[in-house]
Amino acid sequence: MKIDILGVPFDNVTPDEALGKLLAFTNIDKNHLLITPNPEIVMRAQADNELMQILHQADLVIPDGVGIVLASRILKRKVRERVTGYDLIQSLFNVIKDTPKTVYILGAKPGVAEKAKRNMEQRYKNLKIVGVHDGYFDEMQEEIIIKEIQDLKPDILLVGLGCPRQEKWISKNRSRLPVKISAAIGGSIDIMAGTLKRAPKAFRVLGLEWFYRLLQEPQRIARMKQLPLFIMWVLKNR
Ligand code: UDP
Repeated sequence: MKIDILGVPFDNVTPDEALGKLLAFTNIDKNHLLITPNPEIVMRAQADNELMQILHQADLVIPDGVGIVLASRILKRKVRERVTGYDLIQSLFNVIKDTPKTVYILGAKPGVAEKAKRNMEQRYKNLKIVGVHDGYFDEMQEEIIIKEIQDLKPDILLVGLGCPRQEKWISKNRSRLPVKISAAIGGSIDIMAGTLKRAPKAFRVLGLEWFYRLLQEPQRIARMKQLPLFIMWVLKNR
């Protein structure tokens, strides 16, 4: 079932159900799109029609952020719980590690994706990350990256180029990427690499992950002004 929040169709899934869907996608010959919107992305989609359309074409849209859960309560269209992109990908790695399924990581600053690969292959023994590339490339390099993905045919492509670049990049190249899942995962590559720290459990349980992120990256304050704006919009659209 889909739940509409300011025009964005969220899947009302638990983390286990979301994982089940991803696993099913890996067995179907189609490039499935996973998007993990937080309130910032929902706000951005209000003014960016292309992004909104991509959200409507996605195969799985998970509520990544306590703000989305709060909004759904205000709108009385309750999503069951928050499903974070980072945790979902970790669960996916844990299940596929002993299967032949392969992963490609695209995004983050030079060197970060390599570090993420090393860390993840250490954490999930037998996980097969067959290729990585940083997220700062020009058009010529882009063609080389696409050719590499076409040759490697990974089952899962993780793309962390920031929103909306990652969603638009996947959408533009979707038809020529021979993968089963393309996932827009924002800053998750940095967390996998350890260059950005995950919020401690206490913050996560209290729904204060955004606050922890702000402490780590104070320059995000300008973007976070979107959050109260988001809640105001939701209240207006009640
Ligand atoms: N990033 C990238 N290429 C770009 C811009 C950003 O690879 O042209 C990476 C950045 O290094 C970070 C990730 O995208 O790893 C998420 O960036 P940010 O936190 O700005 O985006 P968000 O997903 O929070 O909007």
